[in-house]
Amino acid sequence: MTLAFVVNSGSSSIKWELLEAESGESVRRGIVERIGEAGGDAADHRQAMTSIIGMLGAEHPVVIGHRVVHGGDLFSAATVVTPEVEAAIEKLSSLAPLHNPSNLAGIRAAQVAFPGIPNVAVFDTAFHQSLAPAAYTYAIDAQVAADHSVRRYGFHGTSYQYVSRRAAEVLERPLGDLRLIVFHLGNGASACAIAGGRSVDTSMGMTPLEGLVMGTRSGDLDPGALFHLAREAGLGTPELDTLLNRRSGILGLSGHGDMRDLVESMKAGDAASRLAFDVYVHRLRHYLGAYIAQLGGVDAVVFTAGVGENSPDVRAGALAGLGGLGIHLDAARNARRSPEPRRISTDDSPVAVLVVPTNEELEIARQSLAALG
Ligand code: AMP
Repeated sequence: MTLAFVVNSGSSSIKWELLEAESGESVRRGIVERIGEAGGDAADHRQAMTSIIGMLGAEHPVVIGHRVVHGGDLFSAATVVTPEVEAAIEKLSSLAPLHNPSNLAGIRAAQVAFPGIPNVAVFDTAFHQSLAPAAYTYAIDAQVAADHSVRRYGFHGTSYQYVSRRAAEVLERPLGDLRLIVFHLGNGASACAIAGGRSVDTSMGMTPLEGLVMGTRSGDLDPGALFHLAREAGLGTPELDTLLNRRSGILGLSGHGDMRDLVESMKAGDAASRLAFDVYVHRLRHYLGAYIAQLGGVDAVVFTAGVGENSPDVRAGALAGLGGLGIHLDAARNARRSPEPRRISTDDSPVAVLVVPTNEELEIARQSLAALG
């Protein structure tokens, strides 16, 4: 039995899971919450990690895999943590100020709590390091962009790696032969065009704000709107940040940040909810079309994460009327609920449509073991 311990360390919580890496079986998992808060579970990340050891019992992992949000252009694969890697993650905190410092706190706590067990950093951005310059470059002053590391990095890479491999298994075809468009639709949402197992384009950009409409994030927006709001509404940087990251998306349009509530409200006849749903779906179709062009065709469209796995309405909206592109959804298969990966297109649809539940913890476990060599 090869056990991996997977850590997702946030600013005030540590989510953890002990997994059997070959079978993917979860041995134990938990979450320590409200770290550093009065009445919380632990005073700091180190104390939280010590309390987690107590919950692991006799089982000893051979590796600790850490989710790290931003690897910039320095990391294109899971990497064993060394002092140099720690310094790089710290340096990249300017690109992910809310995430990288917390991820690093988790790594440092694990080093103290589990002496002698190697730590591996698994980056959300790494999978997208395969993007060509034409796909990752923003058309702004090249020197300004270079000085401040402004480019597309992309996120959800760990999920895309897991889901693309599973999709190939479901299709019983080599991943290397496939052109996939994957929609990771959770609270955060993005799309990815994948050719031969490599990311060729993705909708999140320098930060996880670009692209699709999300629970509370706007996704794509004319940057000129920000100048307008700064001038006309007097909004400063913190207000604009809050507006676009926390008060936008389906929440901002309808008052519902959760897709379940939005769909229910829409079906009850609420006009704002209808519009929010339509905007959400319109954006999905925008990226679907773009990525079919970037890939020169598509073999399978794949849905994953909370909304992608559970909302037949969103999937049906995204793919309605696309028979001309070879995409034929089977309504009954789409409506059926299941925790298993499955095909929801008709048997004779030239393009397969799949639902593949993601498992980022298992992917982190496997990549961490692989990084040990
Ligand atoms: P995730 O970030 O992957 O955990 O996804 C969370 C989101 O999934 C929630 O905000 C919900 O909107 C959405 N979700 C979960 N279950 C359903 C469902 N049955 N129908 C529609 N959306 C769902």
